[in-house]
Amino acid sequence: MKRFLLLIGILLFGLNPVVNRHIMLPGYTFVSPDQIHKLFLAELSRREPPCPDYCTKEFLLGKINYRKDTVLFTKVEPQYTYNNVYLKKEVYEAFKIMYEAAKKDQVNLIVVSGCRTFNDQQCIWDNKWKREEYMAIPDEKSRALAILSYVAVPGTSRHHWGTEIDFNSAKLAYYSAGKGKKLYEWLKENAPKFGFYQPYTPINEERPTGYQEEMWHWTYLPLSSIFIREYCKQVTPADLDGFEGAKTLQNMEIFRDWVLGINPVCKQLATR
Ligand SMILES: [Zn+2]
Repeated sequence: MKRFLLLIGILLFGLNPVVNRHIMLPGYTFVSPDQIHKLFLAELSRREPPCPDYCTKEFLLGKINYRKDTVLFTKVEPQYTYNNVYLKKEVYEAFKIMYEAAKKDQVNLIVVSGCRTFNDQQCIWDNKWKREEYMAIPDEKSRALAILSYVAVPGTSRHHWGTEIDFNSAKLAYYSAGKGKKLYEWLKENAPKFGFYQPYTPINEERPTGYQEEMWHWTYLPLSSIFIREYCKQVTPADLDGFEGAKTLQNMEIFRDWVLGINPVCKQLATR
């Protein structure tokens, strides 16, 4: 009997290394990692996972100190980054598993950016606002729109949540050939199996508004889909204040066009 079960086991799981990675679910034959993730997404929208206690308005706006909060956040170890980067703990664990899988395919994932506080984002935003090329735009709304092509308004960056990772290079040209092209193709094919998705895909009818395409920016959807739902519930335009151009931004559709200007799959649970 034992030999018979062993034989069945080898036939089912042992012969094909690809099949070996798949999981059997009752009522299904073999389910690929992609299909598992689709099931996960369906489950996510059906069950509406509860909001964790720490997910307050302050947390969602990046008004936190991730460098000191060792319960929620962790520093990325130097073998994965050249910078001083922090991530939400669950995101870091998922990243490390993906890193090993990528390494087996000769793809080297480098974490360039992770957590950013409201203040970090304000420094980036205010510096841009005051730069000569932007100050040359007299109308404040047009100036804000020009900056918004690539930079998030403080309080609206998904990097506030510790769920976002910028990989290897923040230049689109890097991904057009060689190592960069291989890296992007690998991420597109494999990242969803580890829970990571690209929120800023090309601007088209699927994603008509928002930041320009960011091939380096990937979100850990099992958590960020909960945070976007909470963001839509808890944060209001009045919370976006205290930085250059804030008054002008009050009259713009920042939530509709930028916060929700993301890949439709990343909008799971978000309603406003
Ligand atoms: Zn990013």
